[in-house]
Amino acid sequence: MSDRRPWDGLPRVPLADLPTPLERLDRFGAAIGAEVWIKRDDTGSFGLAGNKVRKLEFVLADARRQGADTIVIIGAEQSNAARATAAACARLHMRCVLVLSGDEPPSATGNLVLDRLFGAETHFAGDVGWAELYERASAISDDLRDGGATPYLLPAGSSSPLGAVGFTAAWFELLDQLDGEAAALYFASSSGGTHAGLLVGRALSEGGPELRSIGVAADIVPDMPGYITSLAEQAAELLEVEADVERAAIDTDHVGEGYAVPTDAGNEAIRLLARTEAILCDPVYSGKALAALVQHARAGSLDGPVVFWHTGGHHALFAPRFRDAVLG
Ligand SMILES: *Cc1c(COP(=O)(O)O)cnc(C)c1O
Repeated sequence: MSDRRPWDGLPRVPLADLPTPLERLDRFGAAIGAEVWIKRDDTGSFGLAGNKVRKLEFVLADARRQGADTIVIIGAEQSNAARATAAACARLHMRCVLVLSGDEPPSATGNLVLDRLFGAETHFAGDVGWAELYERASAISDDLRDGGATPYLLPAGSSSPLGAVGFTAAWFELLDQLDGEAAALYFASSSGGTHAGLLVGRALSEGGPELRSIGVAADIVPDMPGYITSLAEQAAELLEVEADVERAAIDTDHVGEGYAVPTDAGNEAIRLLARTEAILCDPVYSGKALAALVQHARAGSLDGPVVFWHTGGHHALFAPRFRDAVLG
C-alpha cells in the first residue's frame, strides 16, 4: 500500500490516543503456554477509552459535516458506546441523547454515572429488543427535529459502515506495530463494527492474523455473520476500495447464558490477567474473548503468537452485579 491510506479522505475528529500500545504479555503467556500480545484500546485518557472511541472519530466528524447539533444513540443501560458518545459530545459541544433499554435504576451506577457527568440526557425504553429501541430513538430524533434541533441518529455500538472504518484504520495500526507474524487476533464482538472494520483491513492487506471474533451477545439481527459481512462491504464502498471481504465467522461458544451474564471461564481469565500482568478485563466483553484465547492455548490449538485486542470496558468491574462474580 502507498503511504496514503483509503480513510485519509474521510472527515475525522481526533479523540483517541493513537496508536494504542501493543505489549507482550510474558507472564500471562507463560501461564497458558502461548506467546500473547495485547493491543491496548483500554488505555487513553479520553472518556475512559475503549473501542467505541475509534468509531466515533469517523461518525461524529460526519455528523458535524452534516450540521448536526445533537447525537442520539441507543444502547444497554451500561453501554460503553453510550458513555463514549456522551464523552465525545461533551468535547465537541454537541447535545447527547441516550436511548437505553431497561428501566431507569433507582440510583445510577457505572457508565450511567459517567453518562450524566458528561451531561448526556437519558431516556429509558423499558424491556425492549434492539429493533424497538431503534424505533424509539427514531421517534425521539423526529421530535428533536420538530423542536428545531438537527439530530444525527447512531446505531447500537456506532456500528455503521462509517464507524467500522475506524477499525479498518486500527487494523493497519496493528500491522505497523507487529514485529513478525501473528497467527490470530482475538476480540470480543457484539454490534459488529469492530469485526467489520477488521475484515476490510484484512482484505486490503491480503494477509495478517486470522480473525477470532468471539461473540458475547445475542444476535442483534437474525443473520449476524451476513450482517457483519455486509457492513464490511459497505465500509469498503465508503473507502472506495476493492476489497475481497471474506464472510464473517463468529465463535459463539463463549457467550454462556447471554449478554452481560458472567461466565466461570471469563472470570477465571480476568483473574489470571489481573494477577499476572495487572491488566483489567470486564466480564461482559473482553473477559469472554480472553477466555476463548485461554481455552485454545490450553488445548494446544494456537498456531503461533496471538494478539488479544483489549476493547476496553473494564470499569464494569465496579458495578455491584459483576464485582462479586469476578472475585469468584
Ligand atoms: C462494544 C464493545 C465490544 C464489541 O464491539 P462491536 O464493534 O460492538 O462488536 C467489545 N468490547 C467492549 C468493551 C465493548 O464496549
